[in-house]
Amino acid sequence: MPQSTHISRRWLTHLIQEFIATSPHNNIQNDAADSAWDSVLVGFAAGADQIWQQYKEYIGAFHWTPWEVFNQHRPEENVSAEQLTVISWILPQRQMVRKTNRRAKKYPSEEWARIRVYGEAFNVELRHHVVENLEKTGHAAIAPMLVPNWTIVKSKRYSYASSWSERHAAHAAGLGTFGLCDGLITAKGKAMRAGSVVAKASLKPTPRPYADHQAYCLFFADATCGKCIDRCPARAITEAGHDKEKCRQHLVRSREYVKKTYQFEGYGCGLCQVGIPCEAGIPVKAAREALERGELPPPPPPLA
Ligand code: SF4
Ligand code: SF4
Repeated sequence: MPQSTHISRRWLTHLIQEFIATSPHNNIQNDAADSAWDSVLVGFAAGADQIWQQYKEYIGAFHWTPWEVFNQHRPEENVSAEQLTVISWILPQRQMVRKTNRRAKKYPSEEWARIRVYGEAFNVELRHHVVENLEKTGHAAIAPMLVPNWTIVKSKRYSYASSWSERHAAHAAGLGTFGLCDGLITAKGKAMRAGSVVAKASLKPTPRPYADHQAYCLFFADATCGKCIDRCPARAITEAGHDKEKCRQHLVRSREYVKKTYQFEGYGCGLCQVGIPCEAGIPVKAAREALERGELPPPPPPLA
């Protein structure tokens, strides 16, 4: 490990932005070699933030805190939670991709399915890139989604949950809140993919500019909308929330469609992420305007 040099939030944000702008692998491997991603939101969460413990209580004991996953894979670093920072990013879907999937009625557009496979492959490279560059500056780092023991398990509260969730990491890092369909609504909307890395680095956390974990969804804020219910071809979304098993079965069915129709091995859906008010921004006016003004709410109550 090289000697540790100072890094900043700006340095990390630039590292991510530059990789998106310059990597030849940032494309969806269609004939036009369209870029998968063209912008990013980056946030930071403290390793000792109480929210990680709340996730454990809310999701299940199997859900890792940053310290647990870091310590499992870098025990030689002998760190405390206070020495860790979670770097989280949101890759918003490009307008062109959102537009094609808006027309989809049952299975995803070709562009959306390509993003699911090749855009996510780039997101995996981005996680490696961030880890490698942190290591070069003497900051040990891991990407929780890429560790070999990351897994999906049965949860009491949910049918399925994973040992690390990129959406929950992004929520902790001030990047968004959950919608009725379980997606994370960010300042650039719900049509996105997320990534994260845990690093032995002291960086100022991004304040969470929301009072609760569903503040950006019209259904929870105003008891209106519910448009994602109508968009779901699998009837996996109701006023009671998101049925993960129905959603999973639809994704399995999409594999055959993608192969037959677009001639590549892929899958996807995301119909509930487009053609709805939270597709590309925060639909709750008061929350959006407060964010634009840089206002912070009082500390939120624990997740319930
Ligand atoms: S479509 Fe409406 S109800 Fe569904 S997540 Fe978005 S804001 Fe919430
Ligand atoms: S991804 Fe597709 S199947 Fe799953 S909830 Fe959204 S619209 Fe329904």
